[in-house]
Amino acid sequence: MADQVLSLDSLAVHAGREDLVGLGVHAPPLDLSSTSPLPDIGLGGASYESMATGGHPVPGGGTVYARLWNPTVARFEAALARLEGTEESVAFSSGMAALTAAVLAAKTETGGRHVVAVRPLYGGSDHLLGSGLLDVEVTYCAPAGVPAALRPDTCLVVVESPGNPTLELVDIAAVVDAAAGRPVLVDNTFATPVLQNPAAHGAALVLHSATKYLGGHGDVVGGVVACDPAWAAALRRVRAVTGALLHPLGGYLLHRGLATLPLRIRAQQGSAEKLAGWLSSQPSVRRVFFPGTPEGDPTGLIGRQMRGPGAMLAIQLAGGYEQAVRVTGRVRLFTHAVSLGGVDSLIQHPAALTHRPVAPDARPDADILRLSIGLEDADDLRADLARALA
Ligand SMILES: *Cc1c(COP(=O)(O)O)cnc(C)c1O
Repeated sequence: MADQVLSLDSLAVHAGREDLVGLGVHAPPLDLSSTSPLPDIGLGGASYESMATGGHPVPGGGTVYARLWNPTVARFEAALARLEGTEESVAFSSGMAALTAAVLAAKTETGGRHVVAVRPLYGGSDHLLGSGLLDVEVTYCAPAGVPAALRPDTCLVVVESPGNPTLELVDIAAVVDAAAGRPVLVDNTFATPVLQNPAAHGAALVLHSATKYLGGHGDVVGGVVACDPAWAAALRRVRAVTGALLHPLGGYLLHRGLATLPLRIRAQQGSAEKLAGWLSSQPSVRRVFFPGTPEGDPTGLIGRQMRGPGAMLAIQLAGGYEQAVRVTGRVRLFTHAVSLGGVDSLIQHPAALTHRPVAPDARPDADILRLSIGLEDADDLRADLARALA
């Protein structure tokens, strides 16, 4: 089986579990140790040195301390890397911790202090990059504005596709081309590795808020960056020094979530397609934002870059903000809540919530609601929306 090329569905179930038979167990062990016994000072010290500088544990040297390495988290990282088609991945305590580490790593790796941020981005990402906390200068731009935004000290180009909350698709290969050798980070949270592998289009760093689809059950907060070994070492160094660790229980739950990810995405996407079609015929809905419509994919990226439109959509309401208040107050099967990507459907108002920290001129309009379609029956979801929109 080692030589067999496995499909994504098989990898989702089996990746990161290669050591289990040798351990004599069937489910991945949840290792909660904060420290681990040292074989001797020399080997323990060598292992410490290796991990503190971004490497792996030294054979026979142990994992020393949980801020440096955790086997349960490492299994999730190995599995996610396989799904993204990268050699490694590095997990963090949240998506924002992952983005923080990526920016810090990009600064130390390239020596630059300038970031190009392609809008629209998740509100928290947009805010973090411009907050001054990371000591970077940021130029915000549209995808076509990347070449003009570049500077000699640009250390990172950040882009998201599909974009949050209005699902704009960005041509990743075109941004990589325009970045002219600067590393490009793609936030792949909405697409997941089931629908899109940005590394195959030249992205150096592929970021996920694992809180969303990877976990998929609304019960874990985490982040992860898939990349090559050199970037992984830089990211692990940042993580070891700053301590933004994914808890082992989070690693366990995320690894478990990956097994059903392809199945969940396909089912949720199928319902999103049905609902997008129905919503576009509703008089109280002015516009549906969904990559599965011709207007949602004007340059034909689905099929070329993405394997499907995903399960997120947004609607612009004819009745404006007042209608948004009514709809979010009336839904019963949908939960009025931020976040996305879980087995249950959520609806929220980006301008007031997820995109609140974004500068007013770049904030989504107040008549827009974002929907994350879950695993409920699509007809039940439609009936819930019909009642709420009436
Ligand atoms: C939620 C989200 C983030 C932030 O992740 P957290 O796990 O909440 O820190 C980043 N990017 C996108 C696209 C998101 O949806």
